[in-house]
Amino acid sequence: MINGHGKQNGQHNGKVAQNGIAALLEIEDLGDNHVGTSLETPMRDDAFAMDDDQKMELIQGHFREIMNILGLDLEDDSLSGTPHRVAKMYVKEIFSGLNPANKPRIALFDNKYQYNQMLVEKDITLYSFCEHHFVPIIGRAHVAYISNGKVVGLSKINRIVQYFAKRPQVQERLTKQIAEELKALLKTDDVAVLIEAEHLCVAARGVEDVNSKTVTVEYCGKFEDQSVRKEFLSHVRG
Ligand SMILES: [Zn+2]
Repeated sequence: MINGHGKQNGQHNGKVAQNGIAALLEIEDLGDNHVGTSLETPMRDDAFAMDDDQKMELIQGHFREIMNILGLDLEDDSLSGTPHRVAKMYVKEIFSGLNPANKPRIALFDNKYQYNQMLVEKDITLYSFCEHHFVPIIGRAHVAYISNGKVVGLSKINRIVQYFAKRPQVQERLTKQIAEELKALLKTDDVAVLIEAEHLCVAARGVEDVNSKTVTVEYCGKFEDQSVRKEFLSHVRG
């Protein structure tokens, strides 16, 4: 039942079912084309009603079932611990950025040196996961900002990138989320984020293109200016 309207009207139901299938096809298409729907990671209100241990226990059971269905022998020593390992990895590592409790706490410092040129943190290693296929996105992020009086420790930029990467993601959304977080944190619009990444769902399945990369950029504030943007790109490419 697609809309829960029950059986009151056969004709009406037929139409609903048809629309429902069209909607499902559209959703399928959206996923395969890697289009995201919003800047916020779509999450339910009760996302953290369960604690990490409860989540791991449930995921472990479900992953065991997936392996079972695939016909794998879970009595085998090599496989018996896999459901637990996967559950722990999901909750504590690769998807830990879903939980706001894991957001890095970042201290700001006064810009004592009065350094008012752009600061570029480049080649930040990026591991994320495609939310449409749950396989890795592997790449590099390049982040820049121009101080508005405050600065952050350099490693903190990497931490912000990792936090948003540790979610099922869409590369465009990841790029914007990093930029928005830095803008809010540094109280400036002058932020740029460029991500170049390989998507294993493109490289290892589907079109199986092992050479293609996806580049996404977010230029804000002064980085919308051509010459500032060009300087940023020359640092990234240099
Ligand atoms: Zn994908």
